[in-house]
Amino acid sequence: MKICIFCASSEDLSHFYYKDAEKLGNLIGEKRHHIIYGAGQIGLMGKVAQKVRESGGKTIGVIPERLNIKGVVSEQDTQLVHTKDMKERKAYMRKNADAFVALPGGFGTMEELLEVITLKQLQYHNKAIILLNTNGFYDKLLDFFKHLFNENFANPAYETLYTVVSSPEEVLSALESYEHLPIYDKFLTLKS
Ligand code: AMP
Repeated sequence: MKICIFCASSEDLSHFYYKDAEKLGNLIGEKRHHIIYGAGQIGLMGKVAQKVRESGGKTIGVIPERLNIKGVVSEQDTQLVHTKDMKERKAYMRKNADAFVALPGGFGTMEELLEVITLKQLQYHNKAIILLNTNGFYDKLLDFFKHLFNENFANPAYETLYTVVSSPEEVLSALESYEHLPIYDKFLTLKS
């Protein structure tokens, strides 16, 4: 499986975030899965990728021109894909991944995560989206999603677009047991 990983580039995080990122990298590598990710040698990105390679998996880094900076871009990836910009990078990641996993992260991660949720909502894809909720990192975002459902900004059926887990082990089981569910068609009523 090629698993797309979205996660933090920050280098200044509490130790438990690194611990989960490393554990997830090990589990992915041991299962001989590959990751597609942001090609950073920094932050949680760097940790996951390093452990994937050490445990026997491959890492495909996708780097836009602007971020191709020595000290930032990984020099260890099995394959490094260069793209013109962020848009092209995300398109590559989306097209080539079998599933998406979001670890804790900042604006970059949020953008990537919300994009794949939105595209799944619109039935552009039907791939697994897993959130690794280390230390309850995503609780506030998930509360906000509840607010969207309660206030009818999003249909509650869309709660099934993503799966929230609290440990790296559960990420692997969620990926392996993932079944393509029919997606509620937001515009069905308009068409009929
Ligand atoms: P952030 O969550 O803001 O730290 O951004 C990390 C996410 O955005 C990653 O999943 C990457 O795909 C992308 N990204 C942002 N900044 C960088 C960077 N300096 N190097 C590589 N990827 C980055």
